[in-house]
Amino acid sequence: MPMALSDLLLLGQGKDLASERGVSCTGELPHPSEPGLIERARVARAALGERALVLGHHYQRDEVIAFADITGDSFKLAQAAAVATQAEYIIFCGVHFMAESADILTSSAQKVILPDLAAGCSMADMATASQVDECWKVLQEFGVASHTIPVTYMNSSAAIKSFTGENGGTVCTSSNAQRAMAWAFEQGEKVLFLPDQHLGRNTAVLSLGLSREDCVLWNPWKPQGGLTREEIINAKVILWRGHCSVHGRFTVDSVNEVRSRIPNVQVLVHPECQYEVVSSADVVGSTEMIIKTIEAAPSGSSWAIGTELNLVQRLAKTHTDKQIVFLDKDVCYCSTMNRIDLPHLVWVMESLLANHLVNQIRVDDKTAIYSKLALERMLALP
Ligand code: SF4
Repeated sequence: MPMALSDLLLLGQGKDLASERGVSCTGELPHPSEPGLIERARVARAALGERALVLGHHYQRDEVIAFADITGDSFKLAQAAAVATQAEYIIFCGVHFMAESADILTSSAQKVILPDLAAGCSMADMATASQVDECWKVLQEFGVASHTIPVTYMNSSAAIKSFTGENGGTVCTSSNAQRAMAWAFEQGEKVLFLPDQHLGRNTAVLSLGLSREDCVLWNPWKPQGGLTREEIINAKVILWRGHCSVHGRFTVDSVNEVRSRIPNVQVLVHPECQYEVVSSADVVGSTEMIIKTIEAAPSGSSWAIGTELNLVQRLAKTHTDKQIVFLDKDVCYCSTMNRIDLPHLVWVMESLLANHLVNQIRVDDKTAIYSKLALERMLALP
């Protein structure tokens, strides 16, 4: 008998210990198909009132977005967390690094909660603190660290943000990567961009006008990043070899295929896509910019969008006067964003109402000091 979808989703129940490292979900999760689940969510949300703020990233499922007080990309949600001083609980419907940033930006009296601790990010995991320390030692040995400014994408662990803050750098998001990199070049001569090579390359080459040869790729799995001393010394931008498993899969073939299939289609992609894909698109922008572009588009226009599928489907549902399709023919959700579902949200809210704090995300004080510095530099970017 085939396994039900709900069985696959229920990590943290002690059913598959090999897959549940670090995942805790005490108590019983409601069943996803329970008829009264939406009403339970409504009742719990109303009972929590202003004690809780529910933040929902644009890549979340519809069932979760329906209960979000604020929706946005990682930049907008970081700003929202930073000013939400009245909320005792920030329920972050997104992935782990976003909840970490919210914890760094909120007061010690506030608790940040991630409804499913298995909601990580494969890109953030591609740069570990020890790998980045190793890279920095090489840059120090070659005498270039003193004039290299680290810029880390929001999609990184608190430890990487802390490294960035401690070494004079800033965090960036896809909304402000150009401003962050331009700022970094005012502080130093070279940029170490972590962990998304595509956002780094697209920003350096397509936004700041550097050449592709000005950028080198640091492979954390190879000695000296797989680069020669000369390549490291001559590079203007050292790109970390990380990528988003969702955006990295769009190809130029997908762009060509959709152009041949839909007359006058405009291709709109996120800057985490590969350089060749971004170069062959009509419009490139952050998730917020993608939403605004579709909102402003004329009725009857056709769009192929290269970003996470939950958002593309929601745009298609809310803009029925426009033709909106996913850029790739194969369906691909972000598997970790999708881990947050209504059962987990209800479980978290009902637990809080029973005075049981669950799934709190805490960044230790030492890491928080420099990560906060890097995040505040981003929030202060011109
Ligand atoms: S969409 Fe990509 S970058 Fe965003 S959480 Fe998923 S894997 Fe990470």
